[in-house]
Amino acid sequence: MPMIQIDNVSKWYGDFQVLKNCSAKVEKGEVVVICGPSGSGKSTLLRTVNGLEDYQEGRVIVDDIDIGAPGTNLTRLRAKVGMVFQHFELFPHLTVSDNLTLAQMKVLKRSRAEAEKRGLELLARVGLEKQASKFPAQLSGGQQQRVAIARSLAMDPVCMLFDEPTSALDPEMINEVLDVMIGLAKEGMTMMVVTHEMGFARKVANRVLFMDAGEIVEQAPAEEFFTKPRSDRAQKFLAKIL
Ligand code: ADP
Ligand code: MG
Repeated sequence: MPMIQIDNVSKWYGDFQVLKNCSAKVEKGEVVVICGPSGSGKSTLLRTVNGLEDYQEGRVIVDDIDIGAPGTNLTRLRAKVGMVFQHFELFPHLTVSDNLTLAQMKVLKRSRAEAEKRGLELLARVGLEKQASKFPAQLSGGQQQRVAIARSLAMDPVCMLFDEPTSALDPEMINEVLDVMIGLAKEGMTMMVVTHEMGFARKVANRVLFMDAGEIVEQAPAEEFFTKPRSDRAQKFLAKIL
């Protein structure tokens, strides 16, 4: 079984079809990059994988759990599927340490001591062990995004979803976040990443999946996609971002 399996997923907002018969598989340990024009459905597709977005047709199966099946515990599922957003989404009124421990205690029922220990290990891993008692607003964007990644990892996810994790960052902070993601990929984390960072895609992605107007138009190894895109739509898109 693949870690993530998306089978013929379609979704509509009223008359507007935002996802058109999308299918994709991500094997355990694979990194798949999703790119495509703004409004093409990248975020919507990613959000179906952790149950943040429902759909009218098709199936999404993550680690053997059918997300759309009645009775699926979405809180448990979201703990297993880490998600990192463009705008970090840390709790502004909580310290870094409390951001890291809250869900561990609530969802995984870890003790405060256990959760704090795990939180500190992960902060060290993203290079922020000295920031535990600060509030998010006291950190740079790159630091906040690394805290957000550590917070997701604290839930021991089976896979990680990233939705444009570096597009709200100043250029000098992009690499500190990408480096953490590259490290995760090297350790074998299964990842789906919406990004236009080609360097990252070339370095770590097993495949690039190109979306346009709600469709997955092509899937190819990163080097092949960026140098020899097959579809007109991908060629047009790449001409704009390259
Ligand atoms: P992307 O991440 O590729 O930029 P999105 O998945 O965010 O694209 O959005 C895909 C399309 O769905 C866009 O045209 C967007 O306007 C539309 N859309 C997103 N959310 C809603 C909503 N709640 N109601 C109606 N349309 C929406
Ligand atoms: Mg988006």
